[in-house]
This record gives sequence, structure tokens and C-alpha cells, in this order.
Amino acid sequence: MTPAPLRSQPLAARKHLALVAHDNKKADLLNWAKANRGALLAHQLSATGTTGAMLERELGIQIERFQSGPLGGDQQIGAAIVDQRVDCLIFFWDPLEPQPHDPDVKALLRMAVVWNIPMACNLATADFLISSPWMATDYNRQVPDYAQHNQRMAQSDV
Ligand code: PGA
Repeated sequence: MTPAPLRSQPLAARKHLALVAHDNKKADLLNWAKANRGALLAHQLSATGTTGAMLERELGIQIERFQSGPLGGDQQIGAAIVDQRVDCLIFFWDPLEPQPHDPDVKALLRMAVVWNIPMACNLATADFLISSPWMATDYNRQVPDYAQHNQRMAQSDV
């Protein structure tokens, strides 16, 4: 497929961050969230079910909680990305343990790339993301314009 042209989508300083951590990575995410509590509170937060419950307790705030990841939460976040409702994804997936919802994990990673969403899959990248000047200011995200893809069948004689 030929590359989709890009269009600019302005993002406000207050962004929507979605957070997910697999069980063996939850401690890492909670510690990171605690260390970055001040920066995180400037944004709208959502998370998969268990990750969200733990973050709420750790940060002392209420956040939007989707279903637990294995029960469809990853897919819900993926759908929110497609709807342009998520600006940034923090997704600490576990590279050393098979997950029952591996297809959902792959789908979520794929949607973040399809829609050019900044995504951190480990602590170092999360540090870089949260400290980026664009996290706290307006930013023009380049979103692929998939209009051509949507028209590919409509214009042929199938
Ligand atoms: P959880 O889901 O936050 O409900 O544990 C995370 C995941 O495994 O995707």
C-alpha cells in the first residue's frame, strides 16, 4: 500500500494518556507513576481494569477504567485510539511471559503505530515521553489520512 498522506492534528497541553501494564510489569508502572505523579495529574488518565485500580490507589485519584486487559480492555483502548481519543500510550507489556490475550496485545501495539500515537513500552521510553516538552504543551501530531485506503474498493469494478 502506498504511504498515506499526513494531516496535522493539534493536541492540547492536557493530553489523554492510556496506561496498561501486564502483571509482572505492574510494580514498574506504579513506581514510575508515583515518581511522575505531578506530571501525570496534568493530564486525563485512563487504564485497563486492574492497572487502573492500582493506579487509583497509588496516585489517590480517580481515573477512567476500561475492562481488564484479558477481558477486552486492550481492545477498548485500541478502539479509543482509532476514535482519536488517546494521545499517548504507556504500555508495559511483558516480553518474558505468554499472555492469554496475546492477539489483543498485538492489536493494541498495531493501532498505536497505525495512528501514530506516541507509545512507551518500557521505563526508559516512559521517562523520555513524560519529560518531553511536547507532553506539557500544544503539539501537532501527524495523523495518516487513510481516505485513499477507504476508497480503494469503491473506485474499482469488483
Ligand atoms: P489489567 O490488564 O490492567 O486488567 O491487568 C492489563 C493487560 O493485561 O492488558
